[in-house]
Amino acid sequence: MCMTTQPTHMTMTQQAQMSPYLLVLTRQRDELLARIAQQRGGQLSRAEVAYTHFDHLQEDPGQMNNERDTEFAINENETAQLQQIDDALLRLQQGVYGFCLECGTTVSEARLLAMPQTTRCLNCQTAFETAHAAH
Ligand SMILES: [Zn+2]
Repeated sequence: MCMTTQPTHMTMTQQAQMSPYLLVLTRQRDELLARIAQQRGGQLSRAEVAYTHFDHLQEDPGQMNNERDTEFAINENETAQLQQIDDALLRLQQGVYGFCLECGTTVSEARLLAMPQTTRCLNCQTAFETAHAAH
């Protein structure tokens, strides 16, 4: 797309401060951290619930393992999300935020506001998901 409209005279700090995405990303990051903290804090009570629930299934320890795997999977997923948000904040600081990593086009504002940690434009994201769904 047209790259010449990018304000090149501004410093990176000015761009980051002016960006509405900084606010969205920071808010999402806070929410995510709160959710992770909540999950970790709630681990004991969840384990107790699982223990009570599977008390009569002690001959099948696989049930307990499944429960634990789910717990780790949730944390992994949210840690990955946190990583994506941190990456986006870094790109914002570097003044390279909002460009598709695949094709270099400018990602639409609506898409960035809805999903500020995205690294692909809608076309590339669709192609990426289609390719992954095929496997
Ligand atoms: Zn793209």
